[in-house]
Amino acid sequence: MLTLLKGACVFAPTPLGHKDVLLAGEKIIAIEDTIALDSSLSIDIVDATQYYLIPGLVDSLVHISGGGGEAGFASRTPQMNVTDAFRAGITTVVGALGTDDVSRTHSDLLAKAKGLREEGLNAFIHTGSYHVPIKTLGESISHDILFLHECIGVGEVAIADHRGRQPTAVELAKIAAEARTAGILSKKQGTVSIHVGTGKQKLDLLFEVARSSDIPLDQFYPTHMNRNSDLLMAGIEFAKAGGVIDFTASTTQYDLANGELAAAEALAYCLEHGVDATRLTMSSDGHASLPIYDKHNRLIGFEVGSEQALYDAFKQAVLEFQVPFDKALASVTRNPAQVLGLHKGILAPGCDADCLLIDRESFEIVDMWCLGKRIIKNKNLIAKGFFA
Ligand code: ZN
Repeated sequence: MLTLLKGACVFAPTPLGHKDVLLAGEKIIAIEDTIALDSSLSIDIVDATQYYLIPGLVDSLVHISGGGGEAGFASRTPQMNVTDAFRAGITTVVGALGTDDVSRTHSDLLAKAKGLREEGLNAFIHTGSYHVPIKTLGESISHDILFLHECIGVGEVAIADHRGRQPTAVELAKIAAEARTAGILSKKQGTVSIHVGTGKQKLDLLFEVARSSDIPLDQFYPTHMNRNSDLLMAGIEFAKAGGVIDFTASTTQYDLANGELAAAEALAYCLEHGVDATRLTMSSDGHASLPIYDKHNRLIGFEVGSEQALYDAFKQAVLEFQVPFDKALASVTRNPAQVLGLHKGILAPGCDADCLLIDRESFEIVDMWCLGKRIIKNKNLIAKGFFA
């Protein structure tokens, strides 16, 4: 199956200008000023001259098999449906457990990722959860990263949070060392995703690991860095020291009124304060439980994270916070893919055909392909999952 996108304004996410882009099977095989093909071939030709062509979004943290339960069993959040990702322009997700690794299991997480793959989405997982010592599917972190194709790292391990197991720097260094070595052995990154809570330690543990061991800061990938301005300042220090930090797009009005920054605002702030744009990412934290605590850590409300929040944050960064289009786009495509070691989030010959055509004014998604398969056609979602 050949698809020729004619004359799109391409952001790869680097701006390339107007190009023809040829998709064959699951791959992009050519990006040229003009591509002329033998008309006897069966080609789906799409006039893309009015649109931007961008990579599909890479969402580095989604609770694909459901999460939470932080307000009791009834509050365990539902699984993600594949169309939740597709509607939000997401072509790659990384699933993780979270607070609950007792009623939620890695077997279930892996089965969900495999199911999403059968439905046409690129899906990966992390082994581990909030807790230390790390729980795994096989006998060890190394086993899972080496032998489970979908498993690319560990996390999200909780620090600075009353719900975490209060790991020490030595414990974190050992986790990162094992993940790093397993990554080297299996051509993966072995990234350790770090859930950062509101605790007073902020990123101190990660700096301590980098100071006291041979583990580099960029083995860790801290998320929720837009929780409050103090944490954001620690994140800026971390990014300037060579790490990559992530902002969570899903939020609540309560959190925003109590010091959390919108992910788009945090992105703009960091760029204004001299952080290299390649060190910044956003993720949805989709299907996470979003418990709302008062200052005594008492639960006073509850919401659920949404994959759509990621696309909305990208839009908001450009339209409201004047982040340059290519930099905002990189924070949800190339940058998260790079920190996770995934060959995703870019448009180039040889790359997977994960891409979107979007309206240049409204950013509405007009067309979408995931692994070369048409997902959205003329604003209509045409790919469906098994149940929806
Ligand atoms: Zn988290």
